[in-house]
Amino acid sequence: MSAITLINPADESVIRDVEHSTIEQVDAAVAAASVAQRSWAALAPVERARALRRFAATVGEHVEELAALEVVNSGHPIGQARWEAGHVRDVLDYYSGSPERMLGQQIPVAGGLDVTFHEPIGVVGVIVPWNFPMTIASWGFAPALAAGNAVVLKPAEWTPLTAMRLAELALEAGLPEHLFQVLPGKGSVVGERFVTHEDVRKIVFTGSTATGKRVMAGAAEQVKAVTLELGGKSANVVFADADLEKAAATAPYAVFENAGQDCCARSRILVQRSVYDRFLELLEPAVRGVAVGDPNAETTEMGPLVSAEHHAKVASYLDGADVAFRGTAPDGPGYWFAPTVVLPRSRTDRVVTEEVFGPMVAVLPFDDEADAIALANDSIYGLSGSIFTRDLGRALRVARGVQSGNLSVNSHSSVRYATPFGGFKQSGLGRELGPDAPFAFTETKNVFLSTE
Ligand code: NDP
Repeated sequence: MSAITLINPADESVIRDVEHSTIEQVDAAVAAASVAQRSWAALAPVERARALRRFAATVGEHVEELAALEVVNSGHPIGQARWEAGHVRDVLDYYSGSPERMLGQQIPVAGGLDVTFHEPIGVVGVIVPWNFPMTIASWGFAPALAAGNAVVLKPAEWTPLTAMRLAELALEAGLPEHLFQVLPGKGSVVGERFVTHEDVRKIVFTGSTATGKRVMAGAAEQVKAVTLELGGKSANVVFADADLEKAAATAPYAVFENAGQDCCARSRILVQRSVYDRFLELLEPAVRGVAVGDPNAETTEMGPLVSAEHHAKVASYLDGADVAFRGTAPDGPGYWFAPTVVLPRSRTDRVVTEEVFGPMVAVLPFDDEADAIALANDSIYGLSGSIFTRDLGRALRVARGVQSGNLSVNSHSSVRYATPFGGFKQSGLGRELGPDAPFAFTETKNVFLSTE
C-alpha cells in the first residue's frame, strides 16, 4: 500500500505519513455507506437534525485542535484556521435545520392529490482540494447528510488531516458508523473510483477546471449528477468615483488571503484610467503592510504556499513579468512567496488570463463602464468579483453586467454559508451553500393519488 509523507509548508519539516486508500477500500466503504444511508434516511427528520446538531457541537468543542492541524498541514495562519474550523461548525449548525424543512409541493391537478417529495440520492462522493481543506469539505458533506444521504469524501493528497479528524468527530458525536467516511488517497485512484462507482450517485468536486472537466465527462457515462466548483480569475473593478483609500487598503486582502490560493481571489484589479497612478501609489504601502510569516503567530495575515510543487508553478508567472512592487516574506525553509503586484503589457498576458493561485495580482487600466464590464468578462471564468464606486446605479449595472456568481460592492465579501455560492462559465456548475443546498442532494419525486 502506498502512502504520502506530509510536509509542513512553513518549515519543510515532516509531519507524518498517511496511507493511501485502495480501490478495494473505496468499494468496501461505498458498500457500507449504502447500508448506513438507508437507515439514516429512515430516521425521523428530527432525529437526523439532532444528530447533525451534536456533530456541530462536537466540532465546536474541537475548534482549536482542528485549527492547529490546519496550521501544520496547510500553513494557514492560526486566526484564519480558527475561522475555518468555526465555519465548519456553523455550516453543520445551519444545515441541521434542513431535515425538518425539506418541503415538497402540493400541485393542483384534476382527479386527485399531487405531491412532490425530495428523496435522498444515496451515496454522495465529495472530492476536496488542498486550499481550504475543511471548509470546502463541509459545504459538501453537511447539506448532503442533511438531505438524508451518506457521504464518502476524498481530501486532497497534500492536506488530509482535518477531514480525517472530522470523520472521527462525527463518530464521537454519535453519527451512525459508515455514514460519513473519509478516504485519503490519490485523485487518480480514489477520486476516479468515486466517478466510476455505480453506487456513488452524485459527485461534488472542487478543484481545477481541467480535472473538473474530466470528472464531468466520467460522470456522463452513468448520467451521474455533478456539482463543480472550479477556477477563477475574478476582477476587482475600481471606478474613479470610488473611495480610493478604502479600495486600495482592502485590495491586498481580496487576493493575498490564503496566499492567493483561493478560487475567489480578485487576481485582476481593474482601475479607471484617470485614477490608475493614484491607485497604485495607495496600493503599494497596503501591499508592503501585509503581515507574512509564522502561521502560528496571531498577527500573521498570510502564510506560505502549500507545497514546493505549487511554489514552482506560481513562481513561473514571474518569468518576463513587469513587477511593480512586492511585499515581504521570510527567508529560509518553507514555501514562501512575497505578495506581488504585476503590471501586464497586454490584456492577453498569461498573468491576466490564467489562474495563478498564488499571491500575485495584475493591475490593468480601463476607460469607461462598458470597457470595465467587457474586461471583467474577458475570461473563461466567472466566479466572484468586487466593484468599488459611490454611484449606486453604476454599482448595480456593473453587478448585473459581470458574468460571475458572487459579486460584492464596496467590499470583498467572502463566502457566507447562508448565501448561494458558485460560478458562471468554466468556474463551475451548480451552487453550493445557501438555503437550497440540501435540495441539490435529492431527486424530486412526483406522486399522484387518485380520489376517483
Ligand atoms: P486538482 O483539480 O487536480 O485537485 C483537486 C482534487 O481533485 C484533489 O482532491 C485531487 O486529488 C482530485 N483529483 C485529481 N485528479 C482527479 C481525477 N482524475 N478524478 C477525480 N479526482 C481527482 O487540483 P491541483 O491540486 O492539481 O491544483 C492545480 C491547480 O488547480 C491550482 O494551481 C489551481 O489553479 C487550481 N485549483 C483550484 C481550486 C479551486 O478552489 N477552484 C482548488 C485547487 C486547485 P489529489 O490531491 O490526489 O491530486
